[in-house]
Amino acid sequence: MRADLLKKELDIYTYGDLLQHVPFRHLDKSKRSRIADINPQTDVVLVHGQLSNIQLVGKYASKRLQAQLRDESGVLELAWFQGVSWVQKRLREGERYVVFGKVGFFMGQPQIVHPEIEVLSAETASAPGWEPIYSSTEKLKAKGLNGRALGKLTSLLIQQLKPADLPENLPGYILHKLVLPSRYEAYRHVHFPVNMHQYELAIKRLKFEELFYAQLRFALIRSKRHHYSKGFIFDRVGNFFNQFYDHFLPFPLTNAQKRVVKEIRMDTARGVQMNRLLQGDVGSGKTIVALLSMLIAADNGFQSCLMAPTEILAQQHFANINRLVSEMGIVVRLLTGSTKKAERTVLLEDLQAGKIHILVGTHALIEDPVQFHQLGLAIIDEQHRFGVAQRAKLKAKNDLPPHILVMTATPIPRTMAMTAYGDLDCSVIDELPPGRKPVTTVHRTDISRPGVMDFVKKEIAKGRQAYFIYPLIEESAKVDYENLMKGYDEVKAFFPEPRYYISMVHGKQPAATKETNMQRFKTGDTQIMVATTVIEVGVDVPNASVMVIESADRFGLSQLHQLRGRVGRGSEQSFCILLTGNQVGRDSRERLQIMCATNDGFLVAEKDLELRGPGDIEGTRQSGALNFKMADIVQDKGLLSEAAEWTAKVVEADPELMKSEHAMIRDFLRKQKGNNEWSKIA
Ligand code: ADP
Ligand code: MG
Repeated sequence: MRADLLKKELDIYTYGDLLQHVPFRHLDKSKRSRIADINPQTDVVLVHGQLSNIQLVGKYASKRLQAQLRDESGVLELAWFQGVSWVQKRLREGERYVVFGKVGFFMGQPQIVHPEIEVLSAETASAPGWEPIYSSTEKLKAKGLNGRALGKLTSLLIQQLKPADLPENLPGYILHKLVLPSRYEAYRHVHFPVNMHQYELAIKRLKFEELFYAQLRFALIRSKRHHYSKGFIFDRVGNFFNQFYDHFLPFPLTNAQKRVVKEIRMDTARGVQMNRLLQGDVGSGKTIVALLSMLIAADNGFQSCLMAPTEILAQQHFANINRLVSEMGIVVRLLTGSTKKAERTVLLEDLQAGKIHILVGTHALIEDPVQFHQLGLAIIDEQHRFGVAQRAKLKAKNDLPPHILVMTATPIPRTMAMTAYGDLDCSVIDELPPGRKPVTTVHRTDISRPGVMDFVKKEIAKGRQAYFIYPLIEESAKVDYENLMKGYDEVKAFFPEPRYYISMVHGKQPAATKETNMQRFKTGDTQIMVATTVIEVGVDVPNASVMVIESADRFGLSQLHQLRGRVGRGSEQSFCILLTGNQVGRDSRERLQIMCATNDGFLVAEKDLELRGPGDIEGTRQSGALNFKMADIVQDKGLLSEAAEWTAKVVEADPELMKSEHAMIRDFLRKQKGNNEWSKIA
């Protein structure tokens, strides 16, 4: 019964889980103080003394119990405001007690409110040391398993454990170098330390161990892939690539783009399967890199596909790519949910016959009837919108898995990349195309709305276009749609026809309507686009120079940054106006300030992680890779890097973990695989 509750409430299944449910803090009961030594800097104290002057004071709600504790050096006031009569019955005048609690000063006198108090006896006389405090839950408490009871259980468990029960799982040379305690010691000390230094070393070791094994698994996956996986060999850079590069490339590549193309070329040429993450800020030019990679595939006789998260984006990729390469005889096709049946039938036949070089589409691409002749490269754009399962499905489109390139929408923090995508090799475009002007971002509240509208009018008068973006959160979709419609009416009132024309795009529209509205905005038929975040991804209208984001405080930082990336694509100065109500909470204000302060997506991503924690970062929620029990990838950044460095060294020196100094790693991995490292709590 209790075991069931432990499982349900705290995820504690085994003795190991219990050991890993570490205290969230310790109380210093390591030494007894003299009352006279208490001063305003004192936090908590443990004192022995004799109780006197027990008395009830005040009436009704303000009733309280007071008493004085005396030792040879002075007097300490004790007070209770709750459970007064119950406490009173248990206390005896003249008896000696052990008292512990947080010290406050009242009228210059040291005082403890609601102290822990026990009769002094042979048993209670010795200082218990640093007492661990555990979190529990209401349900567990109701079953008598409060934090204290968990502590007792843990203490019993630890008394029974012998060093052999917690065999070392880190190489001695690493422990030695980092001056960390053994695994057995660390588990003991993290619960029952003699002092805080001991605790800190213990927790550091356990966090390191956790990060080390997470990184080691990734390092082994990568190493296995580099050594043993079979992949298609793209060893030719041929006509398609060269012809395109020499005649059709619309702009010179940035150095970062060149570097990444080279990394991909090397990676696909050596006969092992590529699994690569391409990170780059919004607007850094990931698409052209994708296209060049697909041309290399074509040069080597392979098909490729590019999967985008929305229909709009897929269409746009298709149009761009087709425009750039159709003259060279590269056959590009588009497959989405709204591709007509007849067209689809022909397309699927052509695909299987190998008549199509590049297939662009939405997740319709990974459905079963879609069979390639020889898929050599699969690219996923805006990876955060897809799950791991979809990546796997793409991989399974061929007997020998195709090379895989996943592209992010905006950068992800380094620690996040290491822990959520650590199985992938990583390329980074850390440079924007030349001539970009940073977007000017400001925060405005409702009072300034008319001013904002006037500003947008002036921009439109200069021939520019503007976006108005409204939030759309799944949980509150109905209200959000109502707000979008209200917003549309409001914008229309400010910008009446026939002087102004407005497009509206949202997820509930049929694909054709969406497309028409997008198209009208792209061609400049409409000057204003009112939309939900469906346009977040990828849309490219360089003439749009203003973006107004409504209820900006409801968006996450990365999302705001990505939205902002829709403007600032032309040579004109662009603006992003973050609109909120007149009252904004502190957290939101902080987010908005970051947006106003920087255009750097890498910085924004770091801040986002710091402010929201790993659990909330878009698209990583289901990844599981971030569910560390002890470590925290924000606070323990440095330790994560250290762990990654060590795992890299271990795997490089000993990819099969055959060396005797790594025997404990091999053993530990085997035990974990069999899941028999710990016995279950009955
Ligand atoms: P993202 O990385 O956000 O997907 P895109 O690939 O959509 O960025 O590129 C953004 C814009 O920058 C596009 O209009 C693209 O044509 C342009 N672009 C990309 N690379 C360069 C470059 N090297 N020089 C100039 N413009 C570029
Ligand atoms: Mg893109």
